[in-house]
Amino acid sequence: MENKRYYGIDIGGTTAKVGLLENGRVVRTWSVQTDTSDGGRNILPDIIASLPGPADGAALAVPGAVLPDGTVNRCVNLGWGVCRPSDEFTAKTGIPCRVLNDANAAALGEQRLGGGKGYESVLFVALGTGVGAGVVLNGKLREGARGTAGELGHLIWDPSDADAKCSCGHQGCLEQYCSATGIVRLADRAGFPGLTCKQVMDRAAAGDAALEAVADKACGILGWGIACACAVLDPEAVVLGGGVALAGEYLRLKVQNAFDAYAFHACLGTRIHLATLGSDAGLTGAAMYAMDGV
Ligand SMILES: [Zn+2]
Repeated sequence: MENKRYYGIDIGGTTAKVGLLENGRVVRTWSVQTDTSDGGRNILPDIIASLPGPADGAALAVPGAVLPDGTVNRCVNLGWGVCRPSDEFTAKTGIPCRVLNDANAAALGEQRLGGGKGYESVLFVALGTGVGAGVVLNGKLREGARGTAGELGHLIWDPSDADAKCSCGHQGCLEQYCSATGIVRLADRAGFPGLTCKQVMDRAAAGDAALEAVADKACGILGWGIACACAVLDPEAVVLGGGVALAGEYLRLKVQNAFDAYAFHACLGTRIHLATLGSDAGLTGAAMYAMDGV
């Protein structure tokens, strides 16, 4: 690790965030616009052009499924089909490169340097447009056979809820209640159309009883899902990230209480924390992943 340099590159649909890791610390970050035209073929060359020199390793965090051999199985937001971006990166730069899913990268970043710092085993849950997740056990990212380890967003809470149709083809999935989109939907059904997720959570926290019931439902289902995941994975801690987690301690406490109500007794000491790295979690985790792989 001494004197070595690694690039962590978190590629999103509008920007790629790049971080330079030196001596185990992110010393510089910058952004590159994501050009999704022409099948996304300019994305990697644009990022490579921004890099200030050679490095000992790099990792790409991508918004899609990543197979264990590094093959990316479609990133709709980037215009990529089945591809091997780490091979292209290495061919153009000479820098060894790995690739991982972006939620997994954020999980590793938060475990090493963020809300899960100090814990060896962490379940990270990203509450955004959907619900993503990543699992770090005994200090290592655990991606599973298909890269979907920990994906509690598609645990089915209520298979009879025809109003909660999920993009995965099922209905009643956890993410239809606990993502930003899901919370907005619950508020709409409760008679509050047109609110953003932030407005729902702010008004609930300010004492609006009907919206607090919406927040309680979302946090209750999330606490249930986390309890299910913890019964299987047994992490020391859970970290909540993504835009919905900006509701902060108000959300964290509700999820912790729901978790405590549902959890297997042996898991009851599991602490729920808030993420601390914000939008730098992905690039941080990607840089750590690059460092782990060299
Ligand atoms: Zn689903």
